[in-house]
Amino acid sequence: MEYLRNLYLKSIGIDYLPGRMSASNEQTEDEAPGFETLQQLRDNIGDCRRCELSQGRSHIVFGVGNPDADLVFVGEAPGRDEDIKGEPFVGKAGQLLTRIISAMGLTRDDVYICNVIKCRPPDNRDPLLAEIEMCEPFLKEQLRIIKPRAICALGSFASQTLLKSEMKISRLRGQFHDYYGIPLMPTYHPSYLLRNENAKRDVWEDIKMVMEILDLTFPRQGKS
Ligand code: URA
Repeated sequence: MEYLRNLYLKSIGIDYLPGRMSASNEQTEDEAPGFETLQQLRDNIGDCRRCELSQGRSHIVFGVGNPDADLVFVGEAPGRDEDIKGEPFVGKAGQLLTRIISAMGLTRDDVYICNVIKCRPPDNRDPLLAEIEMCEPFLKEQLRIIKPRAICALGSFASQTLLKSEMKISRLRGQFHDYYGIPLMPTYHPSYLLRNENAKRDVWEDIKMVMEILDLTFPRQGKS
């Protein structure tokens, strides 16, 4: 199965080392020294005042879930509910994400969930370039520490930031892309799904591809 997956990944241009993140994701010399654990990284972030977003936030929303997860979901930035609770994806969009995760036969504790930006932008405005540049290294480090086998980028902001692409989410989704040797699937953001019921079908197609690459089987429906 592992062999077949690697063959498939190679055919779509991803050189995938069995099981874990490839060596190409190691820190380069000009980057900050890596941390061994998410807790060390979180401690380093501290009571962050690196950008203006710190002034209006209630909590830094670092990320939750399994630090050894095979699958990481990456969203955009905390909203109001997340800022209050200090946890990503707990509002309406988050509840939908939780339902998607359970449709995969998983729980929020099986996966890891985080955002590109760790503090809520005022009035949920789009994050500014300076804020992204300040915060993205922490996401990069989270992914380097976790070394997931797949990443699911939720929405255009996370997808474009991680892939350094300006392509629309409608064109990025539906296929894996390479994130330092890790297959990354862009898909529509759950908040978009709340407004566009029809896009749920596309998201499920993307999620099924993620399940396939992780060798996840579909949960049984109803009683046997
Ligand atoms: N939207 C996001 O992108 N992230 C959250 O944590 C909540 C809503």
